[in-house]
Amino acid sequence: MTGLARDGGLYVPETVPTMTEDEIAALAGKSYEEIAFAVMKPFVADTFTDEEFKGLIAKAYAGFGHDARAPLVQLAPNHFLLELFHGPTLAFKDFAMQLIGQMMQFALARSGKRITIVGATSGDTGSAAIEAFRGLDNVDVFILFPHGRVSEVQRRQMTTPSESNVHALAVDGDFDDCQAALKDMFNDFDFRDEVHLAGVNSINWGRVLAQVVYYFSSAVSLGAPHRKVSFTVPTGNFGDIFAGYLASRMGLPVDQLVIGTNANDILHRCISANDHSLHQLVQSLSPSMDIMVSSNFERMLFDLYDRDGAAINQLMTEFKATGNLKLSDNALTKARELFTSYRLDDNEMVRVIADVWEHTEYLLDPHTAIGVEAARKTRRRQDIPMVCLATAHPAKFPEAVRKAGYPQDPPLPHHMADLFEREERYAVQDNELSAVQQFMKDNIRK
Ligand SMILES: *Cc1c(COP(=O)(O)O)cnc(C)c1O
Repeated sequence: MTGLARDGGLYVPETVPTMTEDEIAALAGKSYEEIAFAVMKPFVADTFTDEEFKGLIAKAYAGFGHDARAPLVQLAPNHFLLELFHGPTLAFKDFAMQLIGQMMQFALARSGKRITIVGATSGDTGSAAIEAFRGLDNVDVFILFPHGRVSEVQRRQMTTPSESNVHALAVDGDFDDCQAALKDMFNDFDFRDEVHLAGVNSINWGRVLAQVVYYFSSAVSLGAPHRKVSFTVPTGNFGDIFAGYLASRMGLPVDQLVIGTNANDILHRCISANDHSLHQLVQSLSPSMDIMVSSNFERMLFDLYDRDGAAINQLMTEFKATGNLKLSDNALTKARELFTSYRLDDNEMVRVIADVWEHTEYLLDPHTAIGVEAARKTRRRQDIPMVCLATAHPAKFPEAVRKAGYPQDPPLPHHMADLFEREERYAVQDNELSAVQQFMKDNIRK
């Protein structure tokens, strides 16, 4: 429940459970919920009974607008889209957030405790967290988002829920400022203990875990474990693609993982040129990927350095001091066995939306468009199925879609059709830790 560890590092499992080929083969034909149970159970151990855990999974995905939960759609020969936007907020983050909402609620009810959830968002995490926790008795939710830098649909999804335990907070700054405030808040142990702080950002281990499931469900649909599968992931904080890496560590035969980035391309520079240096953050038409420091990348580094905590501590300290981080030859070579990367700016991305629309009449959201092109440009083998993660519904990002020549705002699904009529409610705060903390203390329900 805590998210960030007290020593400033990130939680990782001591050992990664693996699945045998037979166990993976046995997932074929199962429902998403059944696959979720089989894949996550070894990590959950006896925290929940089997029946309890199955119940939490069932509740988490019951509100999705598609019976397959994560359906595959074919885009081109041996190139598939994994639609991860059928949850309540139309982005893949619902997969993890709905589940940890259920798990936390269950654990809190059992212990009689209460918590304060805090999250920083570049757009989609915030609404997903609010949807997962709105109206819960034992939880207050505070979401920090960069003022004026999220799409209108994203903002309205965060600011229109009327429940009194939901607090949307626009911070005068960018996403990295929000994320830094969050990190500092967790390192202020007095504050952390006073308000019972819990994190649901993409560093939360439960979120990473829930995202592993759809790598298995899609790969098995395409013939795994008897056939390898590759994935492309539009990447920001490296959470979603790290789940793909974890799936491969668990035994899923993953041939290649492609990192797609927008102009905020630190990961692309790192993989392609060993240049993990900080640049100025730019605002793009794919705002959920406007991230300079990908916090889950540290988990990857830990493995690339053979789980040497001291070495990672030194690397991260150096990065904090110099704004630069060079991988060892060994680590880079290992990373490149699995990962390739590609970067698209807004103009290139918009052309991809237009091109795919013209050739298939499929409307991509801007994040997915980056993935599609990254897959086309860097896939190594045509004979291995490529699955591109479709991370959001195009209706969330009308500006990008219109720039691609689409003649109207893509329609919102039924359950959100009145979003623009609902009343908004949010506070604006200076980018200053103490002010944000005071706001939280004042607004936590007693
Ligand atoms: C969050 C998000 C991403 C980036 O995912 P990470 O796990 O942060 O790498 C990509 N696309 C969309 C639509 C998102 O909401």
